[in-house]
Amino acid sequence: MKAFSYERAATPEAAAAAVARVPDAKFIAGGTNLLDLMKLQIETPAHLVDVNGLALDRVEPAEGGGLRIGALVRNTDLAANERVRRDYGVLSRALLAGASGQLRNRATTAGNLLQRTRCPYFYDTRMPCNKRMPGSGCAALAGMSRQLAVVGASEACIATHPSDMAVAMRALDATVETVRPDGARRQIPIADFYRLPGNTPQVETELSQGELITAVRLPAPVGGTHVYRKVRDRASYAFALVSVAAVVQADGSGRVALGGVAPRPWRVEAAEPELPRGSRPTAEALLAGARPTRDNAFKLALAERTLAAVLADARRKT
Ligand SMILES: Cc1cc2nc3c(=O)[nH]c(=O)nc-3n(C[C@H](O)[C@H](O)[C@H](O)COP(=O)(O)OP(=O)(O)OC[C@H]3O[C@@H](n4cnc5c(N)ncnc54)[C@H](O)[C@@H]3O)c2cc1C
Ligand code: SF4
Repeated sequence: MKAFSYERAATPEAAAAAVARVPDAKFIAGGTNLLDLMKLQIETPAHLVDVNGLALDRVEPAEGGGLRIGALVRNTDLAANERVRRDYGVLSRALLAGASGQLRNRATTAGNLLQRTRCPYFYDTRMPCNKRMPGSGCAALAGMSRQLAVVGASEACIATHPSDMAVAMRALDATVETVRPDGARRQIPIADFYRLPGNTPQVETELSQGELITAVRLPAPVGGTHVYRKVRDRASYAFALVSVAAVVQADGSGRVALGGVAPRPWRVEAAEPELPRGSRPTAEALLAGARPTRDNAFKLALAERTLAAVLADARRKT
């Protein structure tokens, strides 16, 4: 690990200003992703600003009947929160499908949204990777791409976003609340939060340097049956090959987001109007414009069938 300096921030504004002040500075929350990346020298921040002392660890009612989830709420606490379990079950289930109990005890809401890809070449510093070293190439294009994206990717990068929680947040139309180094606050709909890779796969979100996530807001509950299903190579402690977050109403209408298939949670709004007719959205509708590799073409059929199973399950329960 490379040497770095460290400070604890006293307020969100001070944390944002501290990261903006030092080139290559980063926030650290639970550290479950960042420290691994630092040990492998994939990330080499010169300065760490510890945000764990900020009072951002509460789940509170928000205006309009929604919920405000502090950036530092631990994944375990969020999954177990009474209101989340009752009104946003898809979120609780997605969280519990991720990582392990120990990791969830430490991992935070903001850190989970900002975790980096699990592309094997991103972790192998001997291999070219445009995300780790812009302009070096993408080893995955001609390499092992079983886990990687089938839609939304580019010639520069075909990595997926690994978060389970973010897929549920996308189905729930969450909004990310931030503070910038100059103290300005903004709300970013999760639909606009993650960038597609294009020619700059190293730029993953809309956040600017020093912009701190303070909370995630959920709109008022929409009811319905909430399902999160994650298909993976092992029954636990593995990232999704394909996952589906669905909220299905009694009349069959609903919302659907997919994980494991794209560089960001993949909401399939175009397929949603078909749901009330009881039809089974096809892979073509779900993953329009998909460009799978030889290794991961199976994800198209897997996504279609996983969604069909989720909808059948939800319809049985409503
Ligand atoms: C073995 C293993 C298995 C895992 N399996 C899964 C899985 O199946 N599903 C899944 O979804 N996840 C999985 N994870 C990932 C885990 O969920 C993340 O590591 C965790 O959520 C990151 O949260 P953290 O608080 O520890 O983030 P950190 O490691 O502290 O930070 C991650 C990033 O977020 C930034 N950051 C943190 N807080 C803020 C903030 N408030 N504002 C702005 N930037 C911030 C940091 O600068 C850093 O870039 C796994 C991790 C491991 C190690
Ligand atoms: S897919 Fe993206 S993360 Fe993986 S090697 Fe290519 S550029 Fe790097």
